[in-house]
Amino acid sequence: MRIRSDGYVLVGYAYEHVVVAEKALGKPLPLKAKVHHLDEDRANNAGNNLVICEDQAYHAMLHLRMKSLRATGNPNLRQCYCCKEWRQTESFFRRKNGKLISICKECAKKKKNALYPNRKAKVLKYQAAYYSQHAGEIKARTKQWYSKNREPILARRRERKNHGQPRHASKTT
Ligand SMILES: [Zn+2]
Ligand SMILES: [Zn+2]
Repeated sequence: MRIRSDGYVLVGYAYEHVVVAEKALGKPLPLKAKVHHLDEDRANNAGNNLVICEDQAYHAMLHLRMKSLRATGNPNLRQCYCCKEWRQTESFFRRKNGKLISICKECAKKKKNALYPNRKAKVLKYQAAYYSQHAGEIKARTKQWYSKNREPILARRRERKNHGQPRHASKTT
């Protein structure tokens, strides 16, 4: 038995925590399973200090929750790597796979604004230029759309007038 430089204990060629976990489980660990040390001491392989996790994602989540608990007393917060604040998970954007991004929404916005300081002004300027260049075309398109949709729009308006509640109830009483 020897302790590796990273703190894990080896029995022959096997990790001691894996040997203990497999003994408790009565069979080899599933391929993706990870063994977690409750007290985070990799050399403490007592049975009641080990938790078998189904995969590394679950294991990593346990570590995040423990870190949050130690830092704030609440296991549900996550730390933003940018402002170092501990925040509710709603304060972070998520990736498509559901994982939280490790920078908070506030910092992400600040960074974006710092990267593109004149972005909004540029967009507005571009839009204004586009409209002035294509004014006739846009007006014609709008007119065309309206003439196509005129009947249903007018019908809806009549419907509201005849059957619907008056828009300003107070004015009619
Ligand atoms: Zn662990
Ligand atoms: Zn932040």
